[in-house]
Amino acid sequence: MSRIYNFSAGPAVLPEEVLKEAAEEMLDYKGTGMSVMEMSHRSKAFEGILFDAEKTLRELMKVPDNYKILFVQGGGSTQFAMVPLNLMKNKVADYIKTGQWSKKAISEAKIYGKVNVIASSEDKNFSYIPDVKNLKISDDADYVYICHNETVHGLKYHDIPSTGDKVLVADMSSDFLSEPVDVSKYGIIFAGAQKNVGPAGVVIVIIREDLITDDVMPLTPTMLKYKTHADDNSLYNTPPAYGIYICGKVFNWVKEKGGLDDMKKINEEKAAILYDFLDSSKLFKGTVEKKDRSLMNVPFVTASKELDAKFISESKAAGFDNLKGHRTVGGMRASIYNAMPIEGVKALVQFMKKFEEENTL
Ligand SMILES: *Cc1c(COP(=O)(O)O)cnc(C)c1O
Repeated sequence: MSRIYNFSAGPAVLPEEVLKEAAEEMLDYKGTGMSVMEMSHRSKAFEGILFDAEKTLRELMKVPDNYKILFVQGGGSTQFAMVPLNLMKNKVADYIKTGQWSKKAISEAKIYGKVNVIASSEDKNFSYIPDVKNLKISDDADYVYICHNETVHGLKYHDIPSTGDKVLVADMSSDFLSEPVDVSKYGIIFAGAQKNVGPAGVVIVIIREDLITDDVMPLTPTMLKYKTHADDNSLYNTPPAYGIYICGKVFNWVKEKGGLDDMKKINEEKAAILYDFLDSSKLFKGTVEKKDRSLMNVPFVTASKELDAKFISESKAAGFDNLKGHRTVGGMRASIYNAMPIEGVKALVQFMKKFEEENTL
């Protein structure tokens, strides 16, 4: 058995310790004689798994008591609809457009109401986060929406917009648990698990209690009401049980690593290794303004598409997989989530140096 360095944007690398533990428990979870995949979601054993996962997450993120944590399905993409369906009372919302994922959220919200794009970085191909200090927020907006880390374009908010008494909603799919977050600044935080915290199929929603109501848009499906899941503690229907189990293990792993302050430190150290090299390289360069660079997704290019293609194929042969950029933007992208060891980043930079020497005159 040999594992390679996997730079996939998602589904993505998970901590080896977590995978090993899950393998050990695969046939017999703690004396139940069955796999977590095979057990009733109403069983004592699974109730314990769900309870512990929520408890550890609450602890890690210091989630205030007036927030609920929900585990739902449908991917991050279903949240693009759930947010407007549940929060649009005036049928107006303000969105900040910073890349592919906020763009998709905007298109979806437009089905349900009026969307004001109050800031955008589309003019420069989403290579920066617009100034959000003095945003003009619409008086009638039901909420303000951001994508906290744009997975495809590789940028993140280092400061979040102050929205006054307006609810702030954030998609944190690709940087969830990568650093401490002041949950009280948000009305809703959601994250698809498959980027930084678990397998595909689980979405984590952290929602302020006053936003959980029956006052949703007419025709909202029962399954798309936050209240449905909140009232039954994520057990209204069969939840993504095995995925929640793995997420719980990842939460414990993060805790053992020292929690979110330490996670941030390690992530900054890892990202700096790669960005410092990109800034000094004659061949490679980063595509995002320095101040807005993501700690998780690092896009970069060479001088030509041909060299990009050569790099992608040679890096794969050398044991660095999934470095091809998103199909819509090209180039390369190294996703260096929590579970990517620092050795992986160092080895990648070594390989890039060698490639540079071989391919510059
Ligand atoms: C991947 C991703 C999504 C979409 O997730 P799905 O689970 O594929 O629906 C949404 N937002 C961000 C920031 C993402 O990275």
